[in-house]
Amino acid sequence: MVARNSNLAKLPGGYLFPEIGRRRKACQEQNPGARIISLGIGNTTEPLTPHITEALARAAAGLGTAEGYSGYGDEQGFASLRQAIADKLYQGRVGADEVLTSDGAKCDIGRLQLLFGNQVTVAVQDPSYPVYVDGSVIMGASGDFDSASGQYQGIVYMPCLPENQFFPDLGALPRTDLIYFCSPNNPTGAVATREQLAQLVEFALANRSIIIFDSAYSEYIADPSLPRSIFEIEGARRCAVEVSSFSKPVGFTGLRLGWTVCPRDLVFDDGSPVLKDWNRIMTTVFNGASNVVQHGGLAAVDDTGLAEMRRTVAYYMENAALIKRCLEEMGIESHGGVNAPYIWARFPGCKSWDVFARILNEAFVVCTPGSGFGPAGEGFIRFSAFGHRADVVEATERLKKLSF
Ligand code: PLP
Repeated sequence: MVARNSNLAKLPGGYLFPEIGRRRKACQEQNPGARIISLGIGNTTEPLTPHITEALARAAAGLGTAEGYSGYGDEQGFASLRQAIADKLYQGRVGADEVLTSDGAKCDIGRLQLLFGNQVTVAVQDPSYPVYVDGSVIMGASGDFDSASGQYQGIVYMPCLPENQFFPDLGALPRTDLIYFCSPNNPTGAVATREQLAQLVEFALANRSIIIFDSAYSEYIADPSLPRSIFEIEGARRCAVEVSSFSKPVGFTGLRLGWTVCPRDLVFDDGSPVLKDWNRIMTTVFNGASNVVQHGGLAAVDDTGLAEMRRTVAYYMENAALIKRCLEEMGIESHGGVNAPYIWARFPGCKSWDVFARILNEAFVVCTPGSGFGPAGEGFIRFSAFGHRADVVEATERLKKLSF
């Protein structure tokens, strides 16, 4: 027999969303006639736009012809797509050779964890997207789980609450090798200001840390004064990598396409470039994003695609506004939902899973318990703006009948 990887045994209770799915299923079994609406998982619901659909169909049909067929491509992705991402989404702030495309940001986070190995120390926003912590645990870079605090002993948790404008007190933090930072944030919907990111970069440079900046929701930033990329900040090229994705702005959650920007200037202690090792990882354990999907990505970032992307984002942001208004009418404090598709609602004195259960069993609406994103998420609930409009409207009508 083979011994189980002991790191996996350290993960308590499994991943958050399977647990939510289990409870939803149980609720459906108890209430067979109920139509459960999900404002829970951040999965996109609206169809691909026509311009992207046409590009995908053309690319797929091309594969059936002698001239259009292609097999393996460069692991880093089409040169044209890397250039288009650098030009259109980063306004030339990063080089095409620094952009490596992939099958999504989640997968890139896992491969970055492989890149940095298990000897690194790690800091995460608390609450945060679970993959930063869980992936670090699987790699063996977390230490043991302490059930009293709900924290891994080897991970530094940076509390991000309304009281500190969702930005950690950097002066109170120990040095770590890696700092995971997500803006717009999942789950709080908070977006870091330019000043805050400048402080973060200064902190990382002073500590010789590397920021893993997750900008998967950057297209949801409507306020032009807010930074969409860490590379808008002076000095970030020497202390950050950025993961991002086509999932949330154009609905590629199922198609799978993302990218990571790893600047040439970023080096390890021994002076060797991180980009060189990142290329080595990508060419070893990844074989390139699907060629059909990359054609879809090219369409998404041309002028027509970008206009359609703005419409898709606007649709979800109208949902966010509806949910925010509903919570306001209910007298519930909420955050986010303005430059981000998540609304972070506060239920003082309540346990997140208890609020989740009430909303599920009394309104047949699925949300996400804040405590699933880290100990500082206790007492909060995340509502996602990804949903069909009619469902969001109905969910808000049902929510308004509850009182907390
Ligand atoms: N990063 C954050 C913060 C997310 O919330 C998600 C998905 O929910 C991802 C990354 C995953 O993106 P992708 O679909 O590109 O893997």
